[in-house]
Amino acid sequence: MKFGGTSLGDSQKIKSVAKIVADYFRAKGDVVVVVSAMSTVTDNLINCAKSAAAKNKIQYEKHFEILEKLHVGAACNLKLSKNSQASLLQTIDEHFRELKEILDSIYVLGEVSQRKLDLICSFGERLCPPLLAAALKDLGVKAQAMAASQFIVTDDHFGNADPLLPQSAKKMPLVIAPLIKSKVIPVITGFIGATAKGEITTLGRSGSDFSATIVGYCLDAAEVWIWTDVDGVMTADPRIVSQAQTIKRLSYDEAAELSYFGAKVLHPRTVIPASLKKIPIWIKNTFKPAFPGTVISADQNGTKGAVKAIATIKNLSLVAVEGKGMLGVPGTAAKVFQALADQKVNVMFISQASSEHNISFIVERADREKTTQVLKKAFQLELINNLIDRITSEDEVAILAVVGEKMKGVPGIAGKTFSALGDSKISIVAIAQGSSELNISTVIKEEDLVKAVRTVHQAFHLGSI
Ligand code: ADP
Ligand code: ASP
Ligand code: MG
Repeated sequence: MKFGGTSLGDSQKIKSVAKIVADYFRAKGDVVVVVSAMSTVTDNLINCAKSAAAKNKIQYEKHFEILEKLHVGAACNLKLSKNSQASLLQTIDEHFRELKEILDSIYVLGEVSQRKLDLICSFGERLCPPLLAAALKDLGVKAQAMAASQFIVTDDHFGNADPLLPQSAKKMPLVIAPLIKSKVIPVITGFIGATAKGEITTLGRSGSDFSATIVGYCLDAAEVWIWTDVDGVMTADPRIVSQAQTIKRLSYDEAAELSYFGAKVLHPRTVIPASLKKIPIWIKNTFKPAFPGTVISADQNGTKGAVKAIATIKNLSLVAVEGKGMLGVPGTAAKVFQALADQKVNVMFISQASSEHNISFIVERADREKTTQVLKKAFQLELINNLIDRITSEDEVAILAVVGEKMKGVPGIAGKTFSALGDSKISIVAIAQGSSELNISTVIKEEDLVKAVRTVHQAFHLGSI
């Protein structure tokens, strides 16, 4: 079971989570828990680190104080026995002392590397298991807080590390199996791992979902349950579309596609470890535990409708490489994407007109500057010789993706999407459809996004599934 930050926002919520876990443990059996940081904590830690690096002492000390108050307050409000509370407060205090030392050193240096940022972010997750374990013990079950850096081994891509599953699957059971055997509930940090050398890494923002399936994979879990603040994976982001409905079943591919295209409810790589071992993933609402939620699995019997959901991504830029000299010249696309791969720029969407005058693609807005610079350098000669006319970029764009496995071979889905957008006077900047036909993606102006999602959601009657 994994609980997200929204489920662990304060002492009352931590107590409710402890009750869900303890009830399950008593009624059904063994459970391993993965927790992320309390809500807002990771953003605040990043803020602390960046303010320290910018030599803004007032700012980082302010954020530090907010964080300390939040955790100490939650610990006190759990209303534990005197001894349990004292030992919990001591653990929290030790973490904050260590964090302060690291932040002070960043302040002196005036800079923060991604490696250090991962270390700092890890405190959010490391502070949470002691709180939940204490709440569980208070309910009379045995629990043990632990850091996943002991057994989730990753590569050294700090900020967005990939787990090394065989190594992790070797290490993790050695630590966890004896606890389960002794009826102790392990409460493990989400989001973090460590390189083979023992340096702490993070799995990318929202990575605790990914941690849950990594743990499920390594321990051969029967199921992975991801508890969050909504009723499951929904037909659209419920903050944008109030009619969004809970989807009962999704395939691994559909869930991967939705999360990749911005459905924040799941980290994009969450389904990978689960699909490797065909472990079903349930998405459930912490605040409505009896509601069944969504199941993501290999079994797709009984699912209805070609289109399952609409996902969206904001804060993007559309970059275009244009020129008649690209016509029929092999290797231009390869050169574009190789140059970007070398600089670790992630390309999220590609579209090339058949006239070959133009290759357009989408990158995160934060990467736009770097992308155009890299390309201008890579195509310096072609630009001088007018083989490439220009490299342009357009901000304020967004992607809207229509996703569903059963769209395959069903005619008219693209037509319906584009007519719905056209009828609402939303112009489409670019279009792409993967050959898997699992997804049709359109690039539109960001200002049209909300209207576009509502329009397409309605066109496919997703509010009444
Ligand atoms: P947690 O703290 O549990 O990890 P997150 O905030 O990361 O929770 O993810 C849950 C949020 O994802 C929901 O509150 C919802 O606003 C958002 N969300 C975006 N798209 C979807 C979707 N298609 N289905 C469900 N939730 C979505
Ligand atoms: N706490 C981390 C984040 O905010 C991981 C997570 O929430 O899953 O990104
Ligand atoms: Mg999340």
